[in-house]
Amino acid sequence: MKWRDYGDFLREQFPYKVQKISVNAGFTCPNRDGTKGRGGCTYCNNRTFNPEYCRPVLTVAEQLEQGKRFFGRKYKDMRYLAYFQAYTNTYGDEEQLMRRYEEALSVPDVVGVVIATRPDCVSDTLLERLAELRRRAWVMVEYGAETACERTLRLINRCHTWTETVDAVERTAAAGIECGAHFILGLPGEDEDTMMRTVEAINGLPLSTVKFHQLQVIRGTELARQLQAGEVEVIRWTAEEYAQICARVLQRLRPDIAVERFVSQSPAELLIFPRWGLKNYQFANLLRKMEPEAGK
Ligand code: SF4
Repeated sequence: MKWRDYGDFLREQFPYKVQKISVNAGFTCPNRDGTKGRGGCTYCNNRTFNPEYCRPVLTVAEQLEQGKRFFGRKYKDMRYLAYFQAYTNTYGDEEQLMRRYEEALSVPDVVGVVIATRPDCVSDTLLERLAELRRRAWVMVEYGAETACERTLRLINRCHTWTETVDAVERTAAAGIECGAHFILGLPGEDEDTMMRTVEAINGLPLSTVKFHQLQVIRGTELARQLQAGEVEVIRWTAEEYAQICARVLQRLRPDIAVERFVSQSPAELLIFPRWGLKNYQFANLLRKMEPEAGK
C-alpha cells in the first residue's frame, strides 16, 4: 500500500528536519468538568485525569527544553513543533491560551505549534488570533473528531456532533490555519460500512492530515464496564484484520491528505485489548507490504 505520510507533509512545510515535542499546558476538558458533560468519553482513561496532571510541574518552556535535549542528540540541526496534546488545548481564557502558545514559540528552535482540541471549543476570536500568530510561526489545529456518525458520537458520550466538526474544520481552514483531525476505527456499534462513510466525510473536508487509531479498551473506563455488561459491542480485530481495514481506508481516502498514524499503544498495564504490541512504524511497515485490493 502507498499513501502520503506525515513525513512527506512535513518535508513540504519545512526545509529542515522537525520533531514534535508533546507538552502538557495544564488545560482540562469540558467533557469532564461539567461544561459539556461529566465522566468524559466512554473510552477515555480516567486514571490520567487527576489534578496532578493538570498542574504540570514543569512550565511549557521547560518541557520543550527537556524534549530538545532528548531529540537534539539524534540530529544536530533539528527544529521543533510544540505539540499541545493533553486534553483540550483551546479550552480556557484566550489570553492565557495565547500566552502558552507564545511561551512555546519563545523557546529557541521551536518553529511552530500543533494544538489538539475538541471541535466544539474553538471560537472565531481565537481563530483570528491564531491566524495572526500564523504570520510569525507555523500553526496547526488538530481536532478530535473520532467518527462522522452522529449515533456513535452519542453512544461514546463525546458531547459534540459531526456537524460541529465540519464547522470547526471549515472555519479553521478559512482562517488560513493548517488543519488535522483524529479518528478512531472500531468504535462501539460501528461496522466497516460506517467507517467507510466516515472516510467519505473526511474527503469532503479541507484537512491536511489525519490520524487513525484502533479503539483501545482501557481498564477502569466506562467502555470497559459497558463491554463487561454486554451493553455495547466492538469488533475484536487481529492486527492483520485491522491492517486490512486500514488498507481499505487508504484506498478510499483523498490522496492529498497525509496520514500521521494508524495505531497507538496505551501502557500494557492499562490495556484490556487489543494487545498487539505493535508500534506505529511497525504497523506502517506491515501495511506497506500489503497489496491494494483490485477494483477498489
Ligand atoms: S477523550 Fe478527550 S474529550 Fe473525551 S473525555 Fe477524554 S480528554 Fe475529554
